[in-house]
Amino acid sequence: MENNCVMYNDLDGILYTREQLAEAVKKLGQQITKDYEGKKPVMICILKGASVFFVDLIREIDLPLEIDFMVVSSYGASTKSSGEVKMVKDLDRSINGRDVIIVEDIVDSGMTLSFLKRTLLGRGANSLRIATLMDKPARRRVELTVDYSCFEIPDAFVVGYGLDYNETYRNLPDVGILSPRIYADK
Ligand code: 5GP
Repeated sequence: MENNCVMYNDLDGILYTREQLAEAVKKLGQQITKDYEGKKPVMICILKGASVFFVDLIREIDLPLEIDFMVVSSYGASTKSSGEVKMVKDLDRSINGRDVIIVEDIVDSGMTLSFLKRTLLGRGANSLRIATLMDKPARRRVELTVDYSCFEIPDAFVVGYGLDYNETYRNLPDVGILSPRIYADK
């Protein structure tokens, strides 16, 4: 996709280009390959936001691994978290005794991941780490250790590379800052 497509008109700027994203994802894949040598981790994609990051990341990991998917409640048509987390789709298989890596698009308040961490550890995972594309540490409302993060970002609402606003913009190949005029008064 060229970056003169119409969706780019709704952005206040590009935060990370597709090239920067690819480079960061490759680096993270190499790190996970090193850290999980001799193991067969289960990589869990938190749909839908992490989908694009996830499919790129798993192909940069040089290990046998398994994948699974979860859906949790998201912001809907708002840019602020309700603070409530609801599981909409659970994993297909047991993670008892497994080394689990949760793959998330962005950590904001931390509510989603602290809920997921509690839930999955309660199912007997041998180990559990969090990998996120982006982290907004300034907005954290609960204590949470993020094990792998590609980018620390300021408090802005971003879209693209799997992240949406009201289900749109997920297919932008770059990550951009959504102009507040798009969501003001909504
Ligand atoms: P948390 O539970 O950490 O507050 O929220 C995490 C979820 O909120 C993310 O998985 C993502 O779906 C959504 N989110 C948080 N910040 C942003 C953002 O800047 N842009 C988009 N598109 N979603 C966000």
